[in-house]
Amino acid sequence: MTAEKAEARPARPGAEDASACPRCGQPGLMTARYPHAWHGQAGKRIRGFKEVILCAGCEGGEAAGALLALVDVHGQVCPEDTAAFLRLALDWVETARRQELDVAALAREEQRWHSGEL
Ligand SMILES: [Zn+2]
Repeated sequence: MTAEKAEARPARPGAEDASACPRCGQPGLMTARYPHAWHGQAGKRIRGFKEVILCAGCEGGEAAGALLALVDVHGQVCPEDTAAFLRLALDWVETARRQELDVAALAREEQRWHSGEL
């Protein structure tokens, strides 16, 4: 059995595989993929991956800001910064993962909206 891990790869501006930021459409600086699972209509657990794109123009969070600042110092990640880069990248992915939509909260809010409560 293999463990599913998050992975990150730098985007190459102008390259065909550079992921665009879904918010502003500009090329992202880095794309990270992380394991994601949900339950389908039949209740079966479905496993896959999600991607998050680091964008210099849109990121406002603390974790992304620290990561952007580290990369901005030299325009790349220097070998002596590798450990700090990995820690910051994991913090950034974890922050993005926590910001996912809370489907249960949305359903409760929809219920309140239909009942006229909202
Ligand atoms: Zn953006």
